[in-house]
Amino acid sequence: MPATPAYAAANAKSPLAPFSVDRREPGPHEVSIDIAYCGVCHSDIHQVRDDWGGSVFPMVPGHEIVGKVTKVGSAVRKWKVGDIVGVGCFVDSCRECEACHAGEEQFCANGMSATYNSYERTNGKLDRSRPTYGGYSTRMSVDENYILRIPDGMPLDRAAPLLCAGITTYSPLRHFGVKAGDKVAIVGLGGLGHMGVKIAHAMGAHVTVISHSPGKRDDALKLGADEFLASKDAEIFKTHAGCFDFILDTVSAQHDYNAYLGLLKRDSTMVLVGLPAPTPLAAGPLVMRRRSLAGSLIGGIRETQEMLDFCAKHNVASDIELIRIDQINEAYERMIKGDVRYRFVIDIASFGAG
Ligand code: NAP
Ligand code: ZN
Repeated sequence: MPATPAYAAANAKSPLAPFSVDRREPGPHEVSIDIAYCGVCHSDIHQVRDDWGGSVFPMVPGHEIVGKVTKVGSAVRKWKVGDIVGVGCFVDSCRECEACHAGEEQFCANGMSATYNSYERTNGKLDRSRPTYGGYSTRMSVDENYILRIPDGMPLDRAAPLLCAGITTYSPLRHFGVKAGDKVAIVGLGGLGHMGVKIAHAMGAHVTVISHSPGKRDDALKLGADEFLASKDAEIFKTHAGCFDFILDTVSAQHDYNAYLGLLKRDSTMVLVGLPAPTPLAAGPLVMRRRSLAGSLIGGIRETQEMLDFCAKHNVASDIELIRIDQINEAYERMIKGDVRYRFVIDIASFGAG
Protein backbone atom coordinates (compact mmCIF):
# COMPACT_ATOMS: atom_id res chain seq x y z
CA MET A 1 0.00 0.00 0.00
CA PRO A 2 1.52 3.40 -0.86
CA ALA A 3 2.57 5.77 1.92
CA THR A 4 -0.52 7.29 3.51
CA PRO A 5 -0.79 11.06 4.13
CA ALA A 6 -1.22 12.01 7.78
CA TYR A 7 -0.58 14.84 10.24
CA ALA A 8 1.73 14.16 13.16
CA ALA A 9 3.35 15.83 16.14
CA ALA A 10 7.11 15.15 16.22
CA ASN A 11 7.31 15.87 19.98
CA ALA A 12 5.32 17.46 22.81
CA LYS A 13 6.44 20.97 21.90
CA SER A 14 5.97 20.93 18.13
CA PRO A 15 2.79 21.73 16.20
CA LEU A 16 1.18 19.09 14.01
CA ALA A 17 2.66 18.92 10.51
CA PRO A 18 2.31 16.80 7.36
CA PHE A 19 3.63 13.26 7.81
CA SER A 20 3.41 9.94 6.05
CA VAL A 21 2.55 6.55 7.57
CA ASP A 22 2.95 3.06 6.17
CA ARG A 23 -0.47 1.51 6.36
CA ARG A 24 -0.51 -2.25 5.92
CA GLU A 25 -2.71 -4.18 3.48
CA PRO A 26 -5.57 -5.74 5.46
CA GLY A 27 -4.66 -9.10 7.02
CA PRO A 28 -7.14 -12.04 6.83
CA HIS A 29 -9.24 -10.63 9.71
CA GLU A 30 -8.87 -6.95 8.88
CA VAL A 31 -10.63 -4.37 6.77
CA SER A 32 -9.11 -1.35 5.10
CA ILE A 33 -10.98 1.92 5.59
CA ASP A 34 -10.85 5.15 3.62
CA ILE A 35 -11.34 7.76 6.35
CA ALA A 36 -13.93 10.46 5.60
CA TYR A 37 -14.07 12.40 8.88
CA CYS A 38 -12.19 12.48 12.16
CA GLY A 39 -13.34 14.37 15.27
CA VAL A 40 -10.92 16.34 17.43
CA CYS A 41 -11.02 15.31 21.09
CA HIS A 42 -9.43 17.19 23.97
CA SER A 43 -7.57 13.93 24.69
CA ASP A 44 -5.75 14.50 21.38
CA ILE A 45 -4.38 17.73 22.83
CA HIS A 46 -3.51 16.16 26.22
CA GLN A 47 -1.57 13.37 24.47
CA VAL A 48 0.14 15.51 21.82
CA ARG A 49 1.34 17.81 24.62
CA ASP A 50 2.24 14.82 26.81
CA ASP A 51 0.02 16.06 29.67
CA TRP A 52 -0.38 12.48 30.94
CA GLY A 53 3.28 11.41 30.40
CA GLY A 54 4.60 8.52 28.31
CA SER A 55 3.46 9.84 24.92
CA VAL A 56 4.78 7.96 21.86
CA PHE A 57 6.19 10.21 19.09
CA PRO A 58 5.81 10.85 16.25
CA MET A 59 2.09 10.88 17.05
CA VAL A 60 -0.78 10.85 14.55
CA PRO A 61 -3.81 11.57 16.77
CA GLY A 62 -7.49 10.95 16.05
CA HIS A 63 -9.94 8.44 17.56
CA GLU A 64 -13.32 9.64 16.31
CA ILE A 65 -13.11 8.05 12.89
CA VAL A 66 -15.78 7.46 10.25
CA GLY A 67 -15.11 6.08 6.79
CA LYS A 68 -15.86 3.55 4.12
CA VAL A 69 -14.60 -0.03 3.81
CA THR A 70 -12.48 -0.39 0.68
CA LYS A 71 -10.96 -3.87 1.12
CA VAL A 72 -11.70 -6.85 3.33
CA GLY A 73 -9.34 -9.66 4.38
CA SER A 74 -9.98 -13.21 3.16
CA ALA A 75 -11.58 -14.40 6.44
CA VAL A 76 -13.79 -11.35 7.06
CA ARG A 77 -17.52 -12.17 7.06
CA LYS A 78 -19.03 -9.25 8.99
CA TRP A 79 -18.08 -6.45 6.61
CA LYS A 80 -18.10 -5.80 2.90
CA VAL A 81 -16.63 -3.19 0.59
CA GLY A 82 -18.74 -0.02 0.76
CA ASP A 83 -19.89 -0.41 4.38
CA ILE A 84 -19.86 2.82 6.39
CA VAL A 85 -18.00 2.17 9.60
CA GLY A 86 -16.50 3.83 12.64
CA VAL A 87 -13.35 3.34 14.69
CA GLY A 88 -13.16 4.69 18.22
CA CYS A 89 -10.47 4.89 20.87
CA PHE A 90 -8.98 1.40 20.58
CA VAL A 91 -8.20 -0.98 17.71
CA ASP A 92 -7.38 -4.18 19.62
CA SER A 93 -7.09 -5.77 23.08
CA CYS A 94 -5.84 -9.11 24.47
CA ARG A 95 -9.26 -10.84 24.00
CA GLU A 96 -8.46 -13.22 26.89
CA CYS A 97 -8.83 -11.30 30.14
CA GLU A 98 -11.98 -10.95 32.20
CA ALA A 99 -12.63 -7.42 30.90
CA CYS A 100 -12.31 -8.46 27.24
CA HIS A 101 -14.63 -11.44 27.86
CA ALA A 102 -17.12 -9.06 29.45
CA GLY A 103 -17.05 -6.86 26.33
CA GLU A 104 -15.29 -4.06 28.23
CA GLU A 105 -12.16 -4.06 26.11
CA GLN A 106 -11.30 -0.53 27.26
CA PHE A 107 -10.33 -2.06 30.61
CA CYS A 108 -8.23 -4.89 29.08
CA ALA A 109 -5.97 -6.21 31.85
CA ASN A 110 -3.11 -6.43 29.36
CA GLY A 111 -3.68 -2.91 28.03
CA MET A 112 -5.85 -2.06 25.05
CA SER A 113 -4.18 -1.07 21.81
CA ALA A 114 -5.34 2.53 21.70
CA THR A 115 -6.01 3.89 18.22
CA TYR A 116 -2.91 6.09 18.53
CA ASN A 117 -0.18 6.77 21.08
CA SER A 118 -0.05 3.03 21.69
CA TYR A 119 1.00 -0.22 19.97
CA GLU A 120 -0.41 -2.85 17.66
CA ARG A 121 -0.36 -6.45 18.87
CA THR A 122 1.75 -9.38 17.70
CA ASN A 123 0.46 -12.78 18.85
CA GLY A 124 -1.96 -10.98 21.19
CA LYS A 125 0.74 -8.94 22.97
CA LEU A 126 1.45 -5.22 22.68
CA ASP A 127 4.37 -4.94 20.25
CA ARG A 128 6.56 -1.92 20.99
CA SER A 129 8.04 -2.02 17.51
CA ARG A 130 4.61 -1.28 15.97
CA PRO A 131 3.14 2.07 17.06
CA THR A 132 -0.51 2.81 16.31
CA TYR A 133 -1.38 5.88 14.23
CA GLY A 134 -4.81 7.49 14.41
CA GLY A 135 -7.42 9.13 12.25
CA TYR A 136 -5.68 12.35 11.20
CA SER A 137 -4.84 10.41 8.03
CA THR A 138 -6.58 9.15 4.94
CA ARG A 139 -6.64 5.39 5.48
CA MET A 140 -6.15 2.58 8.00
CA SER A 141 -6.48 -1.19 8.37
CA VAL A 142 -8.34 -2.42 11.47
CA ASP A 143 -9.38 -5.82 12.87
CA GLU A 144 -12.97 -6.68 11.96
CA ASN A 145 -13.97 -7.05 15.65
CA TYR A 146 -12.97 -3.51 16.61
CA ILE A 147 -15.13 -1.66 14.09
CA LEU A 148 -18.57 -0.13 14.51
CA ARG A 149 -21.48 0.09 12.09
CA ILE A 150 -22.67 3.64 11.46
CA PRO A 151 -26.48 3.46 11.27
CA ASP A 152 -28.06 4.32 7.91
CA GLY A 153 -29.00 7.93 7.45
CA MET A 154 -26.67 9.37 10.10
CA PRO A 155 -24.75 12.39 8.79
CA LEU A 156 -21.19 11.06 8.76
CA ASP A 157 -19.41 14.24 9.85
CA ARG A 158 -21.78 14.65 12.81
CA ALA A 159 -21.49 10.93 13.65
CA ALA A 160 -17.69 10.94 14.02
CA PRO A 161 -17.65 12.51 17.54
CA LEU A 162 -19.97 9.78 18.80
CA LEU A 163 -17.03 7.34 18.61
CA CYS A 164 -15.43 8.99 21.65
CA ALA A 165 -17.52 11.89 23.03
CA GLY A 166 -20.75 9.93 22.49
CA ILE A 167 -19.72 6.67 24.13
CA THR A 168 -17.79 8.37 26.95
CA THR A 169 -20.98 10.09 28.10
CA TYR A 170 -23.48 7.32 27.20
CA SER A 171 -21.58 4.60 29.09
CA PRO A 172 -21.64 6.14 32.60
CA LEU A 173 -25.23 7.36 32.16
CA ARG A 174 -26.22 3.74 31.43
CA HIS A 175 -23.87 2.06 33.89
CA PHE A 176 -25.11 4.15 36.81
CA GLY A 177 -28.73 3.57 35.81
CA VAL A 178 -29.83 7.10 34.93
CA LYS A 179 -33.54 6.97 34.13
CA ALA A 180 -36.40 9.20 33.03
CA GLY A 181 -37.09 11.95 35.53
CA ASP A 182 -33.68 11.79 37.26
CA LYS A 183 -32.04 15.13 37.94
CA VAL A 184 -28.71 14.98 36.07
CA ALA A 185 -26.03 17.68 36.01
CA ILE A 186 -23.48 17.84 33.22
CA VAL A 187 -20.42 19.85 34.25
CA GLY A 188 -18.58 21.48 31.32
CA LEU A 189 -20.25 22.11 27.97
CA GLY A 190 -17.60 21.05 25.47
CA GLY A 191 -17.36 18.08 23.10
CA LEU A 192 -18.17 15.51 25.76
CA GLY A 193 -20.52 17.76 27.69
CA HIS A 194 -22.77 18.62 24.76
CA MET A 195 -23.12 14.91 23.91
CA GLY A 196 -23.88 14.22 27.57
CA VAL A 197 -26.69 16.78 27.46
CA LYS A 198 -28.21 15.33 24.28
CA ILE A 199 -27.98 11.71 25.45
CA ALA A 200 -29.23 12.33 29.01
CA HIS A 201 -32.12 14.35 27.54
CA ALA A 202 -32.93 11.49 25.13
CA MET A 203 -32.97 9.14 28.15
CA GLY A 204 -35.68 11.35 29.67
CA ALA A 205 -33.57 12.88 32.44
CA HIS A 206 -34.04 16.44 33.72
CA VAL A 207 -30.73 17.95 32.61
CA THR A 208 -28.84 20.86 34.15
CA VAL A 209 -25.66 22.22 32.59
CA ILE A 210 -23.09 23.69 34.99
CA SER A 211 -20.60 25.77 33.01
CA HIS A 212 -17.85 28.27 33.65
CA SER A 213 -18.91 30.08 30.44
CA PRO A 214 -22.08 32.09 31.13
CA GLY A 215 -22.41 32.77 27.37
CA LYS A 216 -23.29 29.11 26.73
CA ARG A 217 -26.71 29.39 28.43
CA ASP A 218 -28.81 29.64 25.24
CA ASP A 219 -26.87 26.85 23.55
CA ALA A 220 -27.31 24.57 26.56
CA LEU A 221 -31.07 25.01 26.47
CA LYS A 222 -31.15 24.44 22.68
CA LEU A 223 -29.11 21.26 23.07
CA GLY A 224 -31.76 19.86 25.40
CA ALA A 225 -30.88 21.10 28.88
CA ASP A 226 -33.76 22.10 31.17
CA GLU A 227 -31.61 24.39 33.29
CA PHE A 228 -28.29 26.24 33.16
CA LEU A 229 -26.10 27.21 36.11
CA ALA A 230 -23.03 29.43 35.83
CA SER A 231 -20.32 28.01 38.09
CA LYS A 232 -18.77 31.47 38.51
CA ASP A 233 -21.76 32.30 40.72
CA ALA A 234 -20.70 30.74 44.04
CA GLU A 235 -24.31 30.96 45.27
CA ILE A 236 -25.36 28.01 43.05
CA PHE A 237 -23.37 25.67 45.30
CA LYS A 238 -25.66 26.72 48.17
CA THR A 239 -28.97 27.02 46.33
CA HIS A 240 -28.53 23.64 44.60
CA ALA A 241 -26.86 21.70 47.44
CA GLY A 242 -28.14 18.12 47.64
CA CYS A 243 -30.21 18.46 44.43
CA PHE A 244 -28.89 15.97 41.88
CA ASP A 245 -29.28 12.21 41.38
CA PHE A 246 -26.20 12.05 39.15
CA ILE A 247 -23.39 14.37 38.05
CA LEU A 248 -21.18 13.82 35.02
CA ASP A 249 -18.02 15.93 35.15
CA THR A 250 -16.48 16.43 31.70
CA VAL A 251 -14.14 19.35 32.50
CA SER A 252 -10.66 19.19 30.96
CA ALA A 253 -8.97 21.64 33.35
CA GLN A 254 -8.34 21.59 37.13
CA HIS A 255 -11.37 22.63 39.21
CA ASP A 256 -12.75 21.96 42.68
CA TYR A 257 -14.45 18.54 42.69
CA ASN A 258 -15.47 19.01 46.32
CA ALA A 259 -17.82 21.88 45.52
CA TYR A 260 -19.66 19.78 42.89
CA LEU A 261 -19.92 16.76 45.23
CA GLY A 262 -21.96 18.95 47.56
CA LEU A 263 -24.64 19.19 44.87
CA LEU A 264 -25.41 15.44 45.03
CA LYS A 265 -28.36 13.93 46.89
CA ARG A 266 -27.77 11.27 49.56
CA ASP A 267 -26.39 8.00 48.08
CA SER A 268 -25.82 9.58 44.66
CA THR A 269 -22.78 9.45 42.40
CA MET A 270 -20.58 11.91 40.55
CA VAL A 271 -18.62 10.40 37.66
CA LEU A 272 -15.42 11.95 36.36
CA VAL A 273 -14.70 11.53 32.67
CA GLY A 274 -12.58 14.67 32.24
CA LEU A 275 -8.89 14.03 32.83
CA PRO A 276 -7.25 17.21 34.16
CA ALA A 277 -4.08 17.31 36.28
CA PRO A 278 -4.45 15.83 39.80
CA THR A 279 -6.88 17.74 42.00
CA PRO A 280 -7.28 17.60 45.82
CA LEU A 281 -10.23 15.72 47.21
CA ALA A 282 -11.81 16.17 50.66
CA ALA A 283 -13.52 13.31 52.50
CA GLY A 284 -16.23 15.56 53.96
CA PRO A 285 -18.63 15.90 50.99
CA LEU A 286 -18.48 12.12 50.37
CA VAL A 287 -18.93 11.13 54.01
CA MET A 288 -21.77 13.48 54.84
CA ARG A 289 -24.41 12.02 52.52
CA ARG A 290 -22.80 8.67 51.67
CA ARG A 291 -22.02 10.05 48.24
CA SER A 292 -19.84 8.26 45.69
CA LEU A 293 -17.19 9.51 43.32
CA ALA A 294 -16.42 7.30 40.32
CA GLY A 295 -14.67 7.46 36.97
CA SER A 296 -15.46 6.05 33.56
CA LEU A 297 -13.45 5.36 30.42
CA ILE A 298 -15.07 5.39 26.96
CA GLY A 299 -17.00 2.09 26.48
CA GLY A 300 -16.60 -1.39 24.98
CA ILE A 301 -17.33 -2.31 21.38
CA ARG A 302 -20.76 -3.78 22.16
CA GLU A 303 -21.84 -0.75 24.15
CA THR A 304 -20.46 1.64 21.53
CA GLN A 305 -22.67 -0.04 18.91
CA GLU A 306 -25.62 0.20 21.33
CA MET A 307 -24.89 3.94 21.73
CA LEU A 308 -24.75 4.50 17.95
CA ASP A 309 -28.09 2.71 17.53
CA PHE A 310 -29.57 4.70 20.45
CA CYS A 311 -28.39 7.97 18.85
CA ALA A 312 -29.84 6.98 15.47
CA LYS A 313 -33.19 6.14 17.10
CA HIS A 314 -33.31 9.42 19.01
CA ASN A 315 -31.93 11.54 16.19
CA VAL A 316 -28.87 12.51 18.21
CA ALA A 317 -25.60 13.60 16.57
CA SER A 318 -22.83 16.03 17.43
CA ASP A 319 -22.93 19.78 16.75
CA ILE A 320 -19.77 20.34 14.77
CA GLU A 321 -17.53 22.82 13.02
CA LEU A 322 -15.94 21.17 9.99
CA ILE A 323 -12.28 22.09 9.47
CA ARG A 324 -9.50 21.36 6.99
CA ILE A 325 -6.51 19.38 8.22
CA ASP A 326 -4.27 22.44 7.86
CA GLN A 327 -6.46 24.23 10.45
CA ILE A 328 -5.73 21.64 13.15
CA ASN A 329 -3.20 23.64 15.18
CA GLU A 330 -5.53 26.64 15.25
CA ALA A 331 -8.38 24.31 16.27
CA TYR A 332 -6.31 23.09 19.27
CA GLU A 333 -5.69 26.67 20.39
CA ARG A 334 -9.38 27.49 20.06
CA MET A 335 -10.37 24.38 22.05
CA ILE A 336 -8.04 25.31 24.89
CA LYS A 337 -9.75 28.72 24.99
CA GLY A 338 -13.17 27.02 24.98
CA ASP A 339 -13.95 28.46 21.54
CA VAL A 340 -15.63 25.47 19.91
CA ARG A 341 -19.34 24.81 19.26
CA TYR A 342 -19.11 21.90 20.11
CA ARG A 343 -16.70 19.62 18.25
CA PHE A 344 -14.18 20.23 15.52
CA VAL A 345 -14.31 17.55 12.85
CA ILE A 346 -11.60 17.22 10.20
CA ASP A 347 -12.82 16.80 6.63
CA ILE A 348 -10.28 14.18 5.53
CA ALA A 349 -10.93 15.10 1.87
CA SER A 350 -8.94 18.27 2.68
CA PHE A 351 -5.74 16.17 2.62
CA GLY A 352 -6.12 16.16 -1.14
CA ALA A 353 -7.11 19.82 -1.41
CA GLY A 354 -3.81 21.49 -0.48
P1 NAP B 1 -13.53 20.22 25.38
O1 NAP B 1 -14.40 20.09 24.19
O2 NAP B 1 -12.35 21.10 25.33
O3 NAP B 1 -14.46 20.63 26.62
C1 NAP B 1 -13.96 20.79 27.92
C2 NAP B 1 -14.89 21.74 28.68
O4 NAP B 1 -14.37 21.90 30.00
C3 NAP B 1 -14.94 23.13 28.12
O5 NAP B 1 -15.86 23.28 27.08
C4 NAP B 1 -15.36 23.95 29.33
O6 NAP B 1 -16.77 23.90 29.47
C5 NAP B 1 -14.75 23.19 30.47
N1 NAP B 1 -13.54 23.88 30.91
C6 NAP B 1 -12.42 24.11 30.20
N2 NAP B 1 -11.53 24.82 30.93
C7 NAP B 1 -12.09 25.01 32.13
C8 NAP B 1 -11.69 25.66 33.31
N3 NAP B 1 -10.49 26.27 33.40
N4 NAP B 1 -12.52 25.67 34.38
C9 NAP B 1 -13.72 25.06 34.27
N5 NAP B 1 -14.17 24.44 33.15
C10 NAP B 1 -13.38 24.42 32.11
O7 NAP B 1 -12.95 18.79 25.82
P2 NAP B 1 -13.59 17.33 25.59
O8 NAP B 1 -13.08 16.78 24.32
O9 NAP B 1 -15.03 17.37 25.89
O10 NAP B 1 -12.82 16.51 26.74
C11 NAP B 1 -13.05 16.84 28.11
C12 NAP B 1 -12.12 16.03 29.00
O11 NAP B 1 -12.50 14.65 28.94
C13 NAP B 1 -10.66 16.06 28.59
O12 NAP B 1 -9.87 16.09 29.77
C14 NAP B 1 -10.46 14.75 27.85
O13 NAP B 1 -9.15 14.27 27.87
C15 NAP B 1 -11.36 13.85 28.66
N6 NAP B 1 -11.83 12.63 27.97
C16 NAP B 1 -12.02 11.53 28.73
C17 NAP B 1 -12.52 10.38 28.17
C18 NAP B 1 -12.79 9.19 29.01
O14 NAP B 1 -12.99 8.11 28.48
N7 NAP B 1 -12.85 9.34 30.33
C19 NAP B 1 -12.81 10.34 26.80
C20 NAP B 1 -12.61 11.50 26.05
C21 NAP B 1 -12.13 12.65 26.64
P3 NAP B 1 -17.57 25.22 30.01
O15 NAP B 1 -17.14 26.34 29.12
O16 NAP B 1 -18.99 24.84 29.82
O17 NAP B 1 -17.19 25.40 31.43
ZN1 ZN C 1 -11.59 11.21 22.83
